[in-house]
Amino acid sequence: MPELLTVQNLVKHFPVRRGFLGRRTAVVHAVDDVSFSLGENETLGLVGESGCGKTTTGFSILRLIEPTSGEVCFRGENILSLPPERLRHLRRHMQIVFQDPFGSLNPRLTVERVIEEPLLNHEDLSGAERRIRVQEALVMVGLLPEHMTRFPHEFSGGQRQRICVARALVLRPRLVIGDEPVSALDVSVRAQVLNLMIRLQRQLNLSYLFISHDLAVIRYVSHRVGVMYLGQIVELAATKALYARPLHPYTWALLSAVPVPDPRRARQRIILEGDVPSPMNPPAGCRFHPRCTEVKSICREQAPIMRVVEDNHAVRCHLYEDGEPWNPAPPLHRKPEAGDKQPKGGNA
Ligand code: SF4
Repeated sequence: MPELLTVQNLVKHFPVRRGFLGRRTAVVHAVDDVSFSLGENETLGLVGESGCGKTTTGFSILRLIEPTSGEVCFRGENILSLPPERLRHLRRHMQIVFQDPFGSLNPRLTVERVIEEPLLNHEDLSGAERRIRVQEALVMVGLLPEHMTRFPHEFSGGQRQRICVARALVLRPRLVIGDEPVSALDVSVRAQVLNLMIRLQRQLNLSYLFISHDLAVIRYVSHRVGVMYLGQIVELAATKALYARPLHPYTWALLSAVPVPDPRRARQRIILEGDVPSPMNPPAGCRFHPRCTEVKSICREQAPIMRVVEDNHAVRCHLYEDGEPWNPAPPLHRKPEAGDKQPKGGNA
């Protein structure tokens, strides 16, 4: 797939200021050295525990918060060094769907006003033309043109998220960042919204950076998956490869917690010891070493770098340093079996 977005060594540190003079007393390492690329019509899922830096990565890419350093190239242009006017022009191609459809819609505005706002900011259209575009966007997400005159509180959670998707797509962007877009929804409507997003991707040639803590959701929508831990991507691979043969000990633990709907294939659960360390004071060496079941002495001293160890499968771990695929023991590492079906309609 041709590349749409390339992120290189992205870093976002938040200074912690205390006292009357607001002196900097500490630094939160929210995102540290994150690199990946996203192709046209591709979905890259970012998964990890709360606080691992997924959302900060998404916000930094859109410059909703200013990154500390790094490079974010959208169609070959580094958006971190663009002047405000050019950035504003590029923003119409990069939209976001937030987690909370209740908080992200202004309750005082009608659906028409909500969806036409990006058009007012970015396009020079007459009132009638804007109205047609709003109606088209509503139909595209499975709502009705007559819903334009209603207010957000008159809709269910799933319908509100559809309105948010319509607002994100009304400018026909190329990239949409979904920041936990189905986490706040009832389980019964999650699949509907996910299927809608997958259908719209095929219809409009969209690329998604899909952020979620839910491994099942990520598996369903993503072509490739990046696993984040404490501000860093620790494993990056095609979805099928990552779920069939995860390489990083943190990914083993995450996947071992996913229930298998077959009692004959019960999985050995890997329980991680201790809490996630503070991003204000990340551990030396490998950031995962205080909780890792495979820790070696080198892990406490030297930070591993991201390296490709199998076909487009990259991992940040000393176990794979000699280039030899290490043969890990957990029962997660089994060949895909005939019963391992992907859910219908998904992207993986
Ligand atoms: Fe575990 Fe060491 Fe690999 Fe880190 S580098 S994940 S501590 S084995």
